[in-house]
Amino acid sequence: MNSWSPEALVQKSQEARDLAYCPYSKFRVGAAVLTSDGTVFTGCNVENASYPLALCAERTAISKAVSEGHRSFKAIAIASDLEDRVISPCGACRQFMREFGSQWDVYLSKSDGSYKLMTVEELLPCSFGPDDLRKGISSAGNSKL
Ligand SMILES: [Zn+2]
Repeated sequence: MNSWSPEALVQKSQEARDLAYCPYSKFRVGAAVLTSDGTVFTGCNVENASYPLALCAERTAISKAVSEGHRSFKAIAIASDLEDRVISPCGACRQFMREFGSQWDVYLSKSDGSYKLMTVEELLPCSFGPDDLRKGISSAGNSKL
């Protein structure tokens, strides 16, 4: 996606939503993540007869990107069939996004394509991330215990 727009990213997330595998919840979700080099990866929710194994659309899309060598993201759009309010990522997905930085954009959309823009930081304030873990290792290494 050389010249991207939020609307185009939301459109991609809606196309992914249409592929959702959600026979149990019947709640379709799609996501489209834009990498720093302009590549877009999409994902949908993938449920399972063993319910806890279900994957969210956001984590599917990000995992696809990471497994193809991308770790730097500009934005992610999320779509569902909700008409009266925007779809909001679950707590697990917020933490999953945070792994790759807190200053990138999340477009929360309604089924008509309208959206609300938030950052990962706004969705998960005071978060725990990779830098915190490195600090923990560092201080443990300096411990005199
Ligand atoms: Zn989720």
